[in-house]
Amino acid sequence: MTDPLERLNRLPIRENLRGLRPYGAPQIDVPILLNVNENTHGVPEDVRSAIVEAVEGAVAGLNRYPDREFTVLREHLATYLGHGLTADNIWAANGSNEVLQHVLLAFGGPGRTALGFPPTYSMYPLLAGSTGTGYLTGSRDESFDLDARTTASEVAATGANIVFLCSPNNPTGTALPLEVVSEVYDAGEAAQAIVIVDEAYAEFSHSGTPSALELLPGRERLIVSRTMSKAFALAGARLGYLAAAPEIADALRLVRLPYHLSAITQATAVAALTHSAKLLANVDEIKRQRDRIVSGLTGMGLPVAPSDSNFVLFGGLDDPGAVWQDLLDAGVLIRDVGIPGHLRVTAGTQEETTTFLKALESLIRPRVS
Ligand SMILES: *Cc1c(COP(=O)(O)O)cnc(C)c1O
Repeated sequence: MTDPLERLNRLPIRENLRGLRPYGAPQIDVPILLNVNENTHGVPEDVRSAIVEAVEGAVAGLNRYPDREFTVLREHLATYLGHGLTADNIWAANGSNEVLQHVLLAFGGPGRTALGFPPTYSMYPLLAGSTGTGYLTGSRDESFDLDARTTASEVAATGANIVFLCSPNNPTGTALPLEVVSEVYDAGEAAQAIVIVDEAYAEFSHSGTPSALELLPGRERLIVSRTMSKAFALAGARLGYLAAAPEIADALRLVRLPYHLSAITQATAVAALTHSAKLLANVDEIKRQRDRIVSGLTGMGLPVAPSDSNFVLFGGLDDPGAVWQDLLDAGVLIRDVGIPGHLRVTAGTQEETTTFLKALESLIRPRVS
């Protein structure tokens, strides 16, 4: 008997994949899942019916390939985003992870580099690696913010071909001022850098937080990516998208697989967007629970990063691994994102959030003395 990794390594796998582990937050069957920033509120009954009806219509035509250009879906996404965008500005794929992969396939690759600012989304280096793109890292200040001047100079100094800005940033929750985006964009001029602002959590931002969509006019190297996995409560449907200049979408058409968005996916997403107001109705409630977590944790004496997302990163833990395990034993799964002394928790329903706060408090009280 040999172990699976040894057997895998005997395959003529690409050298840069040797020894890698696949992305995988634990999928554990416990009552309260607050670990991957899903919307825990579920799809409202009437939206569910609308999706089922739309899917039924699509099933009748499953003998045919779907609309390769997913035109109706792009129109709906453009309308949802506003900002004067049209279907020509929109690209979509099976989750924004695949959208980002398309960007790396078209603009990265061997001999090119991407730049990220950790702690940030763990998929950026993995997507860079699998597309043969080098991955460089820049720095954040001690409160996890990006300073416009410093960030722009790192972009210029590295000459990166692709820059990942995540706002609100996962796992810290912090949103970026638009001046960081515009200065980074200008600093990428010499290398003609593609600047991606990953706004997966934009809908959870405090009101008045601007979107980088505002910066798109006149910036043909800027990309703003979004997803239906979080605020829209459709993580299982797999639909991510971006807004950019039409020529960016044309570049991505060169690397997508033909018919990559199934007729079922397109029908589901269009039905959901038709009912976006109802789907997004829970966002305010989630923001309330997020703010409850921030004040609850602060009350426990734990330092908390300000959050414009549906999750909260908190520190002050001597042994985050032990707290994570004790919470799991209490039926609450949260996330150890590998930042020393910290854990990340997703805002749940009122009851889930209460259970988390109570469980954590009973663990923390004996430790903080
Ligand atoms: C969850 C998340 C995504 C979304 O991924 P999907 O593939 O659309 O489900 C993208 N970026 C960040 C930073 C995320 O946290």
